[in-house]
Amino acid sequence: MTMPTLTAEPATLGKSEPSAKTSLIGLSRADLAARMAALGVPERQTRMRARQLWSWLYVRGETDFFAMTDIAKDLRAELAANFTLARPTIVTEQVSLDGTRKWLLKVDGANAVDAVFIPEPDRGTLCVSSQAGCTLDCAFCSTGKQGFNRNLSTAEIIGQLWLANRALGVRSREQRIVSNVVFMGMGEPLLNLDAVIPALRLMLDDRAYGLSRRRVTVSTSGVIPGMDRLREECPVALAVSLHAPNDALRDRLVPINRKYPLRALLAACNRYLERAPRDFVSFEYVMLDGVNDSDAHARELLGIAARVRCKFNLIPFNPFPNAGFARSGPERIRRFAEVLQHGGITVTTRKTRGDAIDAACGQLAGDVADRTRRSGKRRSIPLTEVRA
Ligand code: SAH
Ligand code: SF4
Repeated sequence: MTMPTLTAEPATLGKSEPSAKTSLIGLSRADLAARMAALGVPERQTRMRARQLWSWLYVRGETDFFAMTDIAKDLRAELAANFTLARPTIVTEQVSLDGTRKWLLKVDGANAVDAVFIPEPDRGTLCVSSQAGCTLDCAFCSTGKQGFNRNLSTAEIIGQLWLANRALGVRSREQRIVSNVVFMGMGEPLLNLDAVIPALRLMLDDRAYGLSRRRVTVSTSGVIPGMDRLREECPVALAVSLHAPNDALRDRLVPINRKYPLRALLAACNRYLERAPRDFVSFEYVMLDGVNDSDAHARELLGIAARVRCKFNLIPFNPFPNAGFARSGPERIRRFAEVLQHGGITVTTRKTRGDAIDAACGQLAGDVADRTRRSGKRRSIPLTEVRA
């Protein structure tokens, strides 16, 4: 798949241009040690220094090199001269009555992405973005309508977890306020695996965020080569955005299906399950009124469920202006779930949380999308126009 090379429109560029220096956030311990060596730190010290830095970055979350008191002053100055600790910054925060929080995060002068925290009695889920925009243009998705700007870096992805912890007042890892992470924000994570995999490793690393492999979920619209790579390099829980029971309908709703149709997708799901930390794939299914939500569609899904160990997660469509779709009614959703359940499938229906602030995971940056169009070659998210 070709990704268009897009540039930001000059009019939308803010003051903070991306720094030419590399951010240390997102580097592995081995990479940190290599950077120390390149700065002239004697070889026998590089691992120790990398360990100290790691602890400042991920355990204490320090933002200033000069506050890293167990690192020699000269080295602190060298680090500050050569690297940054740049993470995304919060543009707006919205909190809904049910405790859902949505942050709009600025990642550079022209791009903003969303992260959403969803508290539940038994867990706290952070929904993160992996790209600014998306190339895949699913028919019902506001991110897709925005077009694609760029991949996020590892620093920008892990930075969302770091910022959420800070905003939620997490003081120690034992608090576990964020117990789960789902890649269900903006973008297709499997088209940005070079940045996503190191971010996943940091999330799972006991000495960094220490999340359980089963509690980190990557969601894909069905990018098969990415599924195979993730399986080899960092298998975590997998969600697949199914949304239709047959190729004819899925071709329309999820255009990547034309490249990777259902038969191949289901085979890739089964390959993934050989290594996955959970013994099922979560199929996401957005409920679109009169489009994919009939009893006949549900019955057709039983045929798919017979071929892959799976659970279904029904997502009531989150409307946005000019979407061209409506949300299925509650009774229709209930009945659809019932047909699946009678067929022996475990089904959950996503609560429409945070509706008041447009924060429901799965339809992020709606306010941004209203102001951008999928037209022309140059696309960007004008920060100046984005207000809560
Ligand atoms: N690109 C990945 C992950 C991000 S989207 C993917 O497509 O899986 C996360 C989930 O939200 C996907 O299941 C997606 O289909 C769904 N989604 C997108 N727009 C939505 C909308 N307007 N209402 C409800 N769910 C939506
Ligand atoms: Fe991209 Fe996922 Fe939206 Fe499809 S649903 S356009 S893959 S973010």
